[in-house]
Formats: sequence, structure tokens, C-alpha cells
Amino acid sequence: MELDAQWAAAWMRDAAVSLSDNRQRLIDLDRAIGDADHGENMDRGFSAIVEKLDADGVPATPSDVFKTAAMTLMSKVGGAAGPLYGTAFLRGAAAVAGKDALTADDVAAFLAAARDGIVSRGKAEPGDKTMVDAFSPAVEAAQTAASAEASGPEALDAAANAAEAGLAGTEPLIARKGRASYLGERSAGHLDPGAASTALILKAAARAAGE
Ligand code: ADP
Ligand code: MG
Ligand code: MG
Repeated sequence: MELDAQWAAAWMRDAAVSLSDNRQRLIDLDRAIGDADHGENMDRGFSAIVEKLDADGVPATPSDVFKTAAMTLMSKVGGAAGPLYGTAFLRGAAAVAGKDALTADDVAAFLAAARDGIVSRGKAEPGDKTMVDAFSPAVEAAQTAASAEASGPEALDAAANAAEAGLAGTEPLIARKGRASYLGERSAGHLDPGAASTALILKAAARAAGE
């Protein structure tokens, strides 16, 4: 499928279903090393994005869909994740502004800008046991795919698989950012909830593209 505005909207809808299906799992992950609200936060935020798309219709470009997502997440989701994902979608939207459909290079540029937005807002580095540990490998995988002449959907699929591997890699890490960092060494031995939601969101992007 072309990575156009219809795809971007389908991505948001698929992500909303996936985050709703995984609400309890994300709550349980956040209960272990945080405050048990990540599933609720993400479910509420993406449901609100779908409501907005239902009410206003699908905007003209993928960038416009991402802007809608960003504004909605910033206004409806508190805590750490709302502003971080909001910034990610806002920066990602700017990186692909004006494009009717995204190429693999655009996918890589979108993801890199989104990741950079998360990093500039939250100051986490790779290895700090945050969503950055799922997002960064996804960026690298998309860039590699784009360099190898992959299609946009293939780049998304590579990114989603890399995010999933990045999520698995958070388990042994000691958290250095966010609530989980209060636990120090006791945060080791658990997956990071934000990395888990990132993996779900990127998997939804690939699925919506037919990969
Ligand atoms: P809160 O911790 O405020 O309850 P959530 O539970 O919704 O917010 O989100 C927690 C997730 O946010 C963490 O699992 C982590 O992935 C991510 N996170 C927290 N702080 C940061 C940060 N400074 N940089 C990047 N990601 C962060
Ligand atoms: Mg929480
Ligand atoms: Mg909270």
C-alpha cells in the first residue's frame, strides 16, 4: 500500500486497537517498575486520536495525520509518555511535511526526527531503559532498508522488527530516566513499558502498510 494519508490514518486506527488489546500488559509492565498507568495512558491517547479522525475526517497528507496525533497525545495523555510521543509525532510530521506519500527515505527521516524529538525532550540515551531503546534501532533499521532500495512498507517492517528486538534488550537494563530510575538496580529484569508501546505502535505502522 502507498504510505499516504489513508495509510497514516489506518496506522493510527491499528495502533489504537493494539494498544487497547495490550492495555493490561502495558499496565502490568508499568506496575513492575513504574506506577501502573502506561496501558491506560496509551489506550486513552490513541482512542482520542481515532475519535478526532472520525469527527474531522482524514486530513490531506500523512504529515497532517501525524500533527493531529501529536496534538491529541499532548492534550489527552499526561505523565512522561504523552509529551514524549506528542513531540515524536510533531517532529516526525515536520520531517515529511507536504508529502502525499512516503518513500523508504521518508520513513527513515520521519522515524529519525521522531526519535530525535524524544531524545531532545527526555534526554535519554540508548541503554537508559526507555522507549529510545526501541525507537533508535528502528531508525537504524529503516535507514539501512532505505539505503538498500527497500520500499516504504519494507522499511516500516524492518523498523518494527528492530523495535521488537530493542524492547527485548531493555529487560536486563537498569533504568536511568523516568519513574523506573527511582528503583535503581531493582529496575533490571523487567521490560520497559514505553519500549513495549513503541514496538506495538511501529508494528501497527507496518501492518497498516500491508507488511
Ligand atoms: P509515567 O512514568 O509518567 O507514569 P508512562 O507510564 O505513561 O508515564 O510512561 C512511562 C514510559 O515513558 C517509560 O517506560 C519510558 O519508556 C518512557 N520514559 C520516561 N521517561 C523518559 C525519558 N526521559 N526519555 C524517554 N522515555 C522516557
Ligand atoms: Mg506510568
Ligand atoms: Mg504516571
